[in-house]
Amino acid sequence: MAKKEKKGSSGLTKSEVKSYRQMLLDKRKILTEDIKRMEGDSLGKSRQDQSGDLSNMPIHMADISSDNFELELTLGLIENEERQIREIDLALTRLEDGTYGVCENCEGKIPKARLKAIPNATLCLKCKELEEEGMI
Ligand SMILES: [Zn+2]
Repeated sequence: MAKKEKKGSSGLTKSEVKSYRQMLLDKRKILTEDIKRMEGDSLGKSRQDQSGDLSNMPIHMADISSDNFELELTLGLIENEERQIREIDLALTRLEDGTYGVCENCEGKIPKARLKAIPNATLCLKCKELEEEGMI
């Protein structure tokens, strides 16, 4: 007989919980540092622009819009990484309460290969596809 697992439970061993937690914390650290670096870059850049040498005038409109585009791109990336951090925090909570690796939609198990690739995944591949199609 296989060991009993209640529905909605991850059924992970202690060492698996430990390794997923480590993966999540590592990923969180990388994301946090990345955001800090990107914020530093974009903030540093706009500071530099404000105190810019007036002899560079007139400012070409093309330069301004490409700068804005870059800034917007960076802000988009930061937003995306912040969302991932929130997902990681959620995953860490789920590790503690034993529901990590359980699909939020169908309550099926998320394959371990998927969790290893995306430790903050909250949906199984099938439900993720449904979500992307706007089905759930
Ligand atoms: Zn699912």
